[in-house]
Amino acid sequence: MYSSTMDYYRATSLNDAIKVLEKNKGAKLLAGGHSLIPAMKLRVANPPMLVDIGHVKGLNGIKISKKSVTIGSLTTHATVAASQELNQACPILAEAAALIADPQVRNRGTIGGSLANADPASDYPTLITALDATLTATGPKGEREIEARKFFKDLFTTALKRDEVLTSIAVPAYGTMPGMGGAYLKHRHPASSYAVVGVAALIGLEDGKLSRAVVVVGGATANPTHARSVEAALLGVEPSEENIAAATDQMDIDATLGDSYASAEYRAHLAKVLAKRALLLAAERARSS
Ligand SMILES: Cc1cc2nc3c(=O)[nH]c(=O)nc-3n(C[C@H](O)[C@H](O)[C@H](O)COP(=O)(O)OP(=O)(O)OC[C@H]3O[C@@H](n4cnc5c(N)ncnc54)[C@H](O)[C@@H]3O)c2cc1C
Repeated sequence: MYSSTMDYYRATSLNDAIKVLEKNKGAKLLAGGHSLIPAMKLRVANPPMLVDIGHVKGLNGIKISKKSVTIGSLTTHATVAASQELNQACPILAEAAALIADPQVRNRGTIGGSLANADPASDYPTLITALDATLTATGPKGEREIEARKFFKDLFTTALKRDEVLTSIAVPAYGTMPGMGGAYLKHRHPASSYAVVGVAALIGLEDGKLSRAVVVVGGATANPTHARSVEAALLGVEPSEENIAAATDQMDIDATLGDSYASAEYRAHLAKVLAKRALLLAAERARSS
């Protein structure tokens, strides 16, 4: 199907994009177009105007400091996946980016577009929730920071205002911290590679015991959810297979999403299986960090 007709505006700067958004109610930003254009062709989205930010300068690239990594919103999945520096500083992000779709999607799709779209089947929302990221949005009143746990509001709904542009995402450089390890695993949809369920695990080890345990599940609920009972059960114990299995077996995520491919019950089961595997991998990495 063809999309409805719309106006197209190619923004020349961030301020230019914000001004056009402010003046045109219903206008949508266009970044890589790999979520918005398919939605428009299905007529699920019918924006009267597209504001293309694809050529706006200053929104692209990865900056790494001692403690944190800042990624511009226009950075493509391919750039995130290929960055050796990011792979050292925050390995799970690079690892997850490499699992997104296919080279065509990875070369066009952007981290900012993925987060602003808030699709429960996408990968980055789960990761940035686990990493406790800080997102920066810029609007007519300037910049504001939004914590990842306050960013996702519902299915395809975020805390961004209609005239704001997500400009960057900051995550901790946990890869450089001794005793830390992370892993992201997903059950890929066979047609698209979207995450039917994805689990991010991030752990810290002190004297062989877990001093930090973060487990976030995506794809089972509208927005990524911490598996709180698993996190609590792991603190202070050794990351043995037995302890991890005992913790993940009692995971109590209330899966609400389901479709003809995977019911909510099956997604809850996948979450347990993937959490166990992700935690074991994260523990192995933490031991050798
Ligand atoms: C076949 C296929 C397979 C895919 N598989 C996966 C997968 O395995 N995993 C996965 O995570 N994703 C997958 N995707 C989605 C892909 O990653 C998209 O690129 C991504 O979700 C959206 O990024 P984009 O830059 O293309 O955004 P766009 O499509 O341009 O925009 C998406 C939405 O975000 C808004 N937006 C864009 N940029 C900004 C910004 N900076 N600030 C505020 N709002 C903004 C737009 O207005 C729009 O509403 C797949 C897509 C396709 C087509």
